[in-house]
Amino acid sequence: MPESPCLVIDLQRVRDNYRALRSALPTARIRFAVKASPVPEIIRLLADEGAEFDVASIGEIEQCLSLGVDPAVMCYGNPIKKATQIATAHTAGVRRYAFDTEDDLERIAIHAPGAEVECRFLASAPQSQTPFGTKFGCAPGEAVRLMVRARDLGLRVVGPYFHVGSQQLDPAAWRIGIEQAGAIAEALAVKDIPVSSVNIGGGLPISYADPAPELAELGAVIAAAAARHLPEHADLVVEPGRALVGSAGVIHAEVVNVRMAPDGRRWVYLDVGRYNGMAETENEYIAYRIETLRDGDTRDEAVIAGPTCDGDDVLYQRTRVLLPTTLRAGDPVRILDTGAYTASYSSVSFNGFPPLTVHVIGAERE
Ligand SMILES: *Cc1c(COP(=O)(O)O)cnc(C)c1O
Repeated sequence: MPESPCLVIDLQRVRDNYRALRSALPTARIRFAVKASPVPEIIRLLADEGAEFDVASIGEIEQCLSLGVDPAVMCYGNPIKKATQIATAHTAGVRRYAFDTEDDLERIAIHAPGAEVECRFLASAPQSQTPFGTKFGCAPGEAVRLMVRARDLGLRVVGPYFHVGSQQLDPAAWRIGIEQAGAIAEALAVKDIPVSSVNIGGGLPISYADPAPELAELGAVIAAAAARHLPEHADLVVEPGRALVGSAGVIHAEVVNVRMAPDGRRWVYLDVGRYNGMAETENEYIAYRIETLRDGDTRDEAVIAGPTCDGDDVLYQRTRVLLPTTLRAGDPVRILDTGAYTASYSSVSFNGFPPLTVHVIGAERE
């Protein structure tokens, strides 16, 4: 086993997840959100499987290009971009962009003339486990106005786009978003702007310590809502990150120290923390399952912390985590379902701790 801590990614699991999603949503185009796990082998595997790619920066575009991904299947989905970044993406061959403001739309029209555009609106969906809040998306009525403007600027209007927040546990979120997207499509049809696809974003959840709804259930809700509310000629686009890669990763880590704190609580310090992979424990949003070799022993509550000298480098202090009372320094631990938003979030070298290393197992091609 390589030096601890490290993330091990199983490519076969990524492939299985992709195919399971394809079965759950057979009519949808699948666009992988690269930020969830920009691992070269994963990008190449998904490109081979026929995925499209949601890219958020020049860095992600260049990485995908270097791995042989056709820019025609990339969408620059980040609504926060500079004029120079749009121009660079356009030169690289990227022809599809998402936007949510008139300013950004005008920059796209100037620097990527004739591009295809998707307008991100803020759906009235329930909050997810790791919510975007109101950072992205215009009001649905504004989306109609902006897409009319897009046409007038000589851009090709693709359609509405929403993201219900990452790790969304309520299938109704997509029903609500799709219904709103349908109303936008209808308003555009009146103005002679046909919608060619509706992007229902990412957010598809996986099971961590708390179970998530099954993909098949989500697929059924989405398909029913699409049949009811969306124009028949419009493609469905789904943009998963977590659902394709989350369950494909395991972090192998180690206990550095165990102590009883003055407050009487047992603290377990790991060699992996908030800055080298466990960023999604911020606000204790994601409750990962942790396995040890002593799981047969008596278990009791523990606070789990990372290895750096930062007071925020605590993974769980409110979430009830049970670990063996016999756990001690040097014990290996496995943190399950850590394939998404771990290595890609780790810092360059906070406090001198290197970023999480990634090891890939399984074949890229079948
Ligand atoms: C992060 C992101 C996604 C993927 O979200 P998941 O919750 O991981 O599925 C999809 N689209 C955009 C624009 C994103 O920023």
